[in-house]
Amino acid sequence: MYKTRHNWTKEEIIAIYKKPLMDLLYEAATIHRQFHDPNAVQVSTLLSIKTGGCSEDCGYCPQAARYHTGVELEELMTVSHVKAQALRAKSSGASRVCMGAAWRNVKDGPEFDQVLEMVRTINKLDMEVCCTLGMLTENQAKRLAEAGLYAYNHNLDTSEEYYKKVISTRGYEDRLQTIENVRKTNITVCSGGIIGMGESLEDRAGMLVALSTLNPQPESVPINALVAVEGTPMEDQKPVEIWEMIRMIATTRIVMPETQVRLSAGRTQMSREGQAMCFFAGANSIFAGDKLLTTPNPNINEDMMMFEMLGMRTQKPFEKHAQPTTTEAEDSKYVALGENPKWTRPEHKIERNENKRKTKIKE
Ligand code: SF4
Repeated sequence: MYKTRHNWTKEEIIAIYKKPLMDLLYEAATIHRQFHDPNAVQVSTLLSIKTGGCSEDCGYCPQAARYHTGVELEELMTVSHVKAQALRAKSSGASRVCMGAAWRNVKDGPEFDQVLEMVRTINKLDMEVCCTLGMLTENQAKRLAEAGLYAYNHNLDTSEEYYKKVISTRGYEDRLQTIENVRKTNITVCSGGIIGMGESLEDRAGMLVALSTLNPQPESVPINALVAVEGTPMEDQKPVEIWEMIRMIATTRIVMPETQVRLSAGRTQMSREGQAMCFFAGANSIFAGDKLLTTPNPNINEDMMMFEMLGMRTQKPFEKHAQPTTTEAEDSKYVALGENPKWTRPEHKIERNENKRKTKIKE
């Protein structure tokens, strides 16, 4: 009987990743069958509830205000708009709604209150609700839990070492701190990363070490292939090969057997055969809908046709964990503390930012 371990080393993970493909697939698929229904896939829809204008400098992200990517700034969506989108996704077969806001961190105030209302509304539709809102304090995590949040997404993106080359406006420890704050509630954790940003195999393994040594491991781990968007510092990165994606998913499945491994960004570049291999390798969750925040994604009807062809079923909401209860705002135990947490300001500088700054000074 295969058991979950929390002491994986980088060397062990690299050795798994490099196995002959057929051995790797066989091992991952065998483990997958022990912990999950191999013919079930969870379908989530990702809604950008507040788009663009972000103060951070994540090198892959078209929503960072400092890059010129043509992403228009949009204000926070209304609760009724979110409800309509959630109902549409539900009728198409989605069981989870993930709401993303382009914020550095959550701030107590009317906007956060509006997000809490969105969480209550979607939980009452009997769908799993996930949010990705940036860094979060313990009190804010408790308020989200009380509203009925099922999952909180906060990606580690890559290894601690490579993170410094991708983002300079916050540190790895900030990410881990937010995950810890979420863990103090009954909200499940969703945390993964992106491949194809110029990182090495050691970095991919380093990220899997960071995630798999968390105890408990995240309940959901999205694996994204970089979508290189024009105007971002990563616009010239080569597309990720399907074999890299399959290997990364299989390795994630082996080191985190119980987690939902999510085949995330980059699916538009993959064939159905490639995606089927990813499901065989242990992916059991996807994002569906025309857009993944701001980048293109396959249409949900195309995905449903693919599942029919593969004989796969969509997972029902709350198959893995019980539905949280929702407390109404007027009955809330928690109040906004108006905290101004001291998230770290990392010391490191990124060469591309420095070069840009120097060019600006010369101008
Ligand atoms: S990934 Fe999130 S935090 Fe980073 S720039 Fe984009 S929206 Fe902002």
